[in-house]
Amino acid sequence: MKACARSVASVLGVIAISSVCFLGYAQGSRAPKKIAFTEDGYPYIRGEYLVKVRSSAALERLLDNQQESLGSVSRKAPVLDAGETGQWYKVQISDDYKLREAILSARESADVVYAEPNYVYYSQVSREKNLPTPPSRGGKGGPDYNAAPALPVPPVADPDIAKMYGLSKIGAQQAWQVTGGSAKVLVADIDTGIDYNHEDIINNLWRNPAEVAGDGIDNDGNGYIDDVVGWDFRDKDARPFDDNSHGTHTAGTIAATGGNGIGISGVAQQASIMSLRFLGGSEGSGSLEDAVKAIEYATNNGAQIMSNSWGGGGYSQTMFDAISRANDKGILFIAAAGNSGSDNDKKAQYPANYKLPNVLTIAATDSADKLASFSCFGVTTVHMAAPGVKILSTVPGSKYSSLSGTSMATPHVTGAAVLLKSVYPNMKARELKAALMESVEALPSLSGKVSTGGRLNISKALAVAKMQHGEPSSGN
Ligand code: CA
Ligand code: CA
Repeated sequence: MKACARSVASVLGVIAISSVCFLGYAQGSRAPKKIAFTEDGYPYIRGEYLVKVRSSAALERLLDNQQESLGSVSRKAPVLDAGETGQWYKVQISDDYKLREAILSARESADVVYAEPNYVYYSQVSREKNLPTPPSRGGKGGPDYNAAPALPVPPVADPDIAKMYGLSKIGAQQAWQVTGGSAKVLVADIDTGIDYNHEDIINNLWRNPAEVAGDGIDNDGNGYIDDVVGWDFRDKDARPFDDNSHGTHTAGTIAATGGNGIGISGVAQQASIMSLRFLGGSEGSGSLEDAVKAIEYATNNGAQIMSNSWGGGGYSQTMFDAISRANDKGILFIAAAGNSGSDNDKKAQYPANYKLPNVLTIAATDSADKLASFSCFGVTTVHMAAPGVKILSTVPGSKYSSLSGTSMATPHVTGAAVLLKSVYPNMKARELKAALMESVEALPSLSGKVSTGGRLNISKALAVAKMQHGEPSSGN
């Protein structure tokens, strides 16, 4: 905790006094938001900060004081998730030039636990190629399960599977002789949303069992109305449809339906994928506020694994606390190392660099098992690699496309964790992480680049888990 406080201080201490480095607008259906950078290069939303206070009265006192001293505080401060030591809020001020002053003055208050910029995060896909353009937003409700293709019995081979070198590299076919996955494993794809009517994904979507679709009632009382397949935190509705292609692609690598005679197969042939959208627009960007709400939703609604193919913002105590709560529940948090080709030991990337037992950070390799040129690395902060160059997966409109990025490597490991969890439901985050790391295939190209020096091998990971946890229980 002490170390964290220091990190927060070091980042907050260097917010530009005049944040003049204008980047552009985040896309999306909400009003455009200007993005600026802290002096050490982390993007944030102009004029917004997150603050954790010990009580709502403390927030009122803080805002009153800031109104007086800064004269420009807007009380757009919805109550968010309650933590043990208080609650966090978003504060907007009309003048970004006063943001640093606002954060610093907040931190001086005894009522304030911390204050930090509302950072911006991006999908970690290589920008060399334009993403396929998705069709317009999905239907008014959630997924159309009635239109889902029936699963063939016995299973029928997926036609494009031969084009998926990543599956062969990581020993997926051998692993499937032990398990193809299980609908009992709930994995959160925290991303740009999913085409939840995709022919090769719809059968592997989570369905919130306690929510009735389209009745306008929060049936399960979790604070979200009609959340049958997840939630759209960016647009604040129950339709986390993918407007970018990135999230549908990562979902397909985790668990496109295997053995249905259609398209491809995920690393897991079967799983329950929860779609949590906080990124969006052509850049696949999203705010710290929405990212943390997505993580909290996943934690509170039964996710066992979270897949996070995004990064970019600075150290956030709000996010650290949210991932730490997931850790307390044994939930594995898999994160992309980043695509700037740099050393994360020297320049931290978040969430990849959070030092928590449940965070597993992934670099990208290519079909020749070389570290991808764009992939971030870090012999202490990046744990292992997985295939992430020219990865074929699903995109909106029941289509398929190849993309590159640590975004594509990350869901390979997520799918592998699904397979482990299918066979050993009691494995917690630390054990899943250990089994995945201990079983990597050592590669010369990864020596000195990632802490294990190796690339994912799920077949070996299952063997390691078997040694530690005994004979597999039935796969389903
Ligand atoms: Ca609900
Ligand atoms: Ca398929």
